[in-house]
Amino acid sequence: MKEKLLKILGLEHKSEYVRNFLYASNIKSSIYMSVYITCMEIWMIIRLLSRQLQGIDLRSTDYYISHYCNYAMLLAAAAVMLIFAVMYIRGKKVPQALGYVLKWAFMLICVSFGIEISAADYGKGEQVFTFLTMELFAACLLTWYPIFGFMIISVSYGIFYLTLDATLVTATGFIGATDATKINLFIMYVATLFCSFGNYARTASQARKAEELSRMNGRLEDIAKHDELTGIHNMLYFRAEAEKLLKTKKKSELTFLFLDIENFKSYNETYGFSKGNELLKRVAQMIDSAFSYSLSARFSDDHFVVLTASPGSEGTVSLISEKLESEDSDVQLHLKCGAYSPTESDDDPILACDRARFACNSIKKHFGKKYRVYDSGLEETYHLKRYVVNSIDTAVREEFLRVYYQPIMSAADDTVAGFEALARWDDPAHGVLIPALFITTLEEHRQIHKLDMFIIDRVCRDIRHRLDTGSFCPPVSVNLSRLDFELVDIVGCLCGTADRYHIPHSLIDVEITESALVGQKEKLKAELDRIRAEGFSILLDDFGSGYSTLNVLKEYRFDVLKIDMQFLEGFPDNPNTGVILENVLALAKSLGMTSLAEGVETEEQYAFLRRIGCEKVQGYMFSRPVPINQLDEKLLTGSLKPAKKEI
Ligand code: C2E
Ligand code: MG
Ligand code: MG
Repeated sequence: MKEKLLKILGLEHKSEYVRNFLYASNIKSSIYMSVYITCMEIWMIIRLLSRQLQGIDLRSTDYYISHYCNYAMLLAAAAVMLIFAVMYIRGKKVPQALGYVLKWAFMLICVSFGIEISAADYGKGEQVFTFLTMELFAACLLTWYPIFGFMIISVSYGIFYLTLDATLVTATGFIGATDATKINLFIMYVATLFCSFGNYARTASQARKAEELSRMNGRLEDIAKHDELTGIHNMLYFRAEAEKLLKTKKKSELTFLFLDIENFKSYNETYGFSKGNELLKRVAQMIDSAFSYSLSARFSDDHFVVLTASPGSEGTVSLISEKLESEDSDVQLHLKCGAYSPTESDDDPILACDRARFACNSIKKHFGKKYRVYDSGLEETYHLKRYVVNSIDTAVREEFLRVYYQPIMSAADDTVAGFEALARWDDPAHGVLIPALFITTLEEHRQIHKLDMFIIDRVCRDIRHRLDTGSFCPPVSVNLSRLDFELVDIVGCLCGTADRYHIPHSLIDVEITESALVGQKEKLKAELDRIRAEGFSILLDDFGSGYSTLNVLKEYRFDVLKIDMQFLEGFPDNPNTGVILENVLALAKSLGMTSLAEGVETEEQYAFLRRIGCEKVQGYMFSRPVPINQLDEKLLTGSLKPAKKEI
């Protein structure tokens, strides 16, 4: 009830936004009023002056003095109000309290002059429009809370009525205000009240709508600016702000940083997504507060970017990394950072982030290296990588892509038991590019399927040719990327191509790296089953290079376990190498898988592998990956012996 009453009176609680809106609308309205009154009073002064000078309708000195004073006072009030309002509109800092005082003073002056002038006019039997005009201006243009509106209008009409009533109208013989005037005044009083209340209701409702809109805008702006998960800025905001900074700041003082949490994927696998998200939030906060005077954002996944003008970024990154390393976790987490200082011609922050990212990627898996500055050495690789992404279609069309083959040897009798097909990019402009450069780049840009589909086709064509010419033709393994399964129906493509060339599926093996299988599950499992059902063998490539090795073996079935070459690296100095290898072989055997060791470079390694029962081997010791005709030469000259019975 009390609240209802307060609302009717306009005294309910108003937010600061609504109060400011009402205030602003009053100041804007007072501009119209003050401009009108200023012009009006200047005109009145000029009019009176010219009449006085021309001697028209000459009056007493008192008359002139009182009129000039009245005009001047109104003019001064309007001018002060106008100056204040213009200053406010132009965004000058003017005290709000002064605005309220001026508004009230201006209203009082206008209405009192209205009463005085109209009462005098009425006394002479003239109209009462000055009062009505002033009343309309002050009560209806300015937005008064209903209680104030009611007070102002009632008091002013009351005073005006009493003044009229006390006025002796000698010319017409009436004493006081006539009944018609009283009735008209009452009607005008009610109309003015309605106008004033209506004005308040309209403006207050506009204020509330504007407040809601601004709140919504604020929320949208917040969403548009911030990363949903971590709460720090997102790339949209980063990009816009970085563009501004690149324009306004000295570029040589700026540094773009690209930060990556090493081993975050393993953390996710070990502890689950929810804990992974918690970690991301913590790292985001660490970065945001460590670079508090810089612009920072989440780039994607576990990647963050910073644009800073402060020196000492390397030290700051190192501190964050130390904090990260001290996290209570079984997974060793590190922070890797690439830095790039923009040159005068750099305007695109994304390109700059890309370069910083490139520097960061170049130190991934480099133990102990946390910070790398982008340099011209990286520049060439960077351009090559961009070139790779832009030219993959041309490379496929123009056949820059080649298949090199590396023999897979049977350890039992030193004969060639298979080939591994490895892609090479023989570029007319850049020479032979190695997979380390183009495979990851194509994967990053989700273009790898184009290469793999091409390689499958060429491998099938080569096998067909060998079968047709009666050449030695062992199974050939092709490498597939995890993304192939996402991007295309790679199994369908494999079957379709093999069938088009009429090749028995047993002549093609599929290699999938261990890391490809992490975090996949159902879909990939079904695809692998499909591969096997179609009669292809599956090799688990690079076994032991990842973190979830044993899990992968638990989840999927493979025909061959390809032991990563890292295992042989420490041999023979590291005594553990032998023990681990022996156990891996035992594991493969117990799971019914053929064992294959890659990266065999020395006689010593080979002898050891044979002794512990490794079934197949592959490595530079036998042959580097070479074009098929070179393999044929080796087979012809006897430096490689074909397996007696083709599989
Ligand atoms: P991967 O499948 O594990 O291939 C074995 C890599 O080890 C090959 O490198 C090979 O040249 C190298 N290698 C073989 N023997 C030795 C040795 O005795 N010592 C040393 N240090 N290295 C040896 P490459 O050809 O550079 O390929 C690297 C990786 O690129 C491959 O690893 C494979 O994961 C990927 N890759 C190659 N071709 C393709 C392809 O057509 N499609 C896909 N998706 N990936 C491919
Ligand atoms: Mg392979
Ligand atoms: Mg491998």
